Amino acid sequence: AQTICAPLPVLGRDVTVPLVTGGEVTYAALDYAASAPALQRVWDDVAAYAPYYGSVHRGAGYLSQLSTDLFENARRTVAEFLDCRSDDHLVFTRSTTDSLNLLARALPAGCQVFVFETEHHASLLPWQDAHVTYLDAPRTPQQAVSTLERALAERDPYGPALVCVTGASNVTGELWPVRELAAAAHAHGARIVLDAAQLAPHHPVSVRDLDVDWVAFSGHKLYAPFGSGVLAGRADWLRAAEPYLAGGGASRRVTRRGDGGVDVEWHDTAARHEAGSPNVIGAYAIVSACKALTEAGFDTLVAREQQLIARVRAGLAEVPEVRILSLFGDDAPRVGVISFVVDGWNSSHFAAALSAEYGIGVRDGLFCAHPLVRTLLGTAPQTQGECGAPESAPGEKSLNAIRLSFGAGTPDEHLDRFITAVKELVHNGAKWQYHTENGRCVP
Ligand code: PMP
Repeated sequence: AQTICAPLPVLGRDVTVPLVTGGEVTYAALDYAASAPALQRVWDDVAAYAPYYGSVHRGAGYLSQLSTDLFENARRTVAEFLDCRSDDHLVFTRSTTDSLNLLARALPAGCQVFVFETEHHASLLPWQDAHVTYLDAPRTPQQAVSTLERALAERDPYGPALVCVTGASNVTGELWPVRELAAAAHAHGARIVLDAAQLAPHHPVSVRDLDVDWVAFSGHKLYAPFGSGVLAGRADWLRAAEPYLAGGGASRRVTRRGDGGVDVEWHDTAARHEAGSPNVIGAYAIVSACKALTEAGFDTLVAREQQLIARVRAGLAEVPEVRILSLFGDDAPRVGVISFVVDGWNSSHFAAALSAEYGIGVRDGLFCAHPLVRTLLGTAPQTQGECGAPESAPGEKSLNAIRLSFGAGTPDEHLDRFITAVKELVHNGAKWQYHTENGRCVP
């Protein structure tokens, strides 16, 4: 097939790693779903700004003012990138996990939460203090909508409710019917938050078009490092909530009371939930990444990624021992995230061999989505085991899976090397023995 566009330049393209079989090879980063390599452009933009770095919202000096403007402009630019409504709030957080925990603290009293068991732990777990209904894994997108509708129909129609759903699965890469789920939520008087951690790096996200109430994503999966994330959406719940963190920046006025205590007037802007010195470099890096993706054009990026997905799936289809994990089936629309198991192999050993013998970095484990991966593997719900830790001996049925994930910076060669490696490992076996040491699988 004709190449649609070149991969976007990312950091780490020329990094070489040693092979256990001798020599070295350029590293093939195929774990974008965990953390994508930063775009070179993001790095350059941050480096150009670095000498002008100053404290945000605090200093009277020129550079402090510059950084404050940069931070507030970042808020506007990212809100535009997400196509937010004009009165939405956009809070800079540390990550998707942080964003969803923030929203969980902002739930109105008596809020019911609905979440599929298939979610990443970041969207599955923060709601524990509320009344949560966990929905069984659907087997089609339509079933997801009907399952949600049924659950919502049974809820107390007068109380507040929130649905939390992923846009693209971090395990199967499959797209979820977000617009339809949002319509179902709203038809039943509930609100919806979109976990776009895996969607935003691959597709444009429009809050207005999807009609979601909030969206959350992480900078480090969107080709920007520096521990930054975003929660954007409806202002009312955020304004009414206690500040996520108490401290400077979130408070407008603090006064001593006559009885010796302290009265606090909190901001009712996004700053309410951003106490402490904000991560201006992180916010600026996200802006740079948003601009780079927009300029490259999502149409082009999506077309290329679909070509890469087809290439990997065609390669894996030639290996009958490989089983790709999927909820919605082969034809479901998806992003470049593919999890699989290999007959007769322990997944952790397979992943270790890909690293040690081929210089390929994938992930093994349950991908912080334990219930979903167990459903897909058909293993018992109560099976023990941590994310990433090998759970079975060599030759035993694997209790976890292997995941490769890629995106705008992935060269074709990395995927070709991966396919070759899978075929060689399956046909010839690993050249080395692997065992577990300190929770890590090593040769
Ligand atoms: N949601 C999904 C779908 C994810 O894939 C991830 C990260 N694997 C998260 C949430 C959490 O993101 P972070 O670790 O950046 O908080």
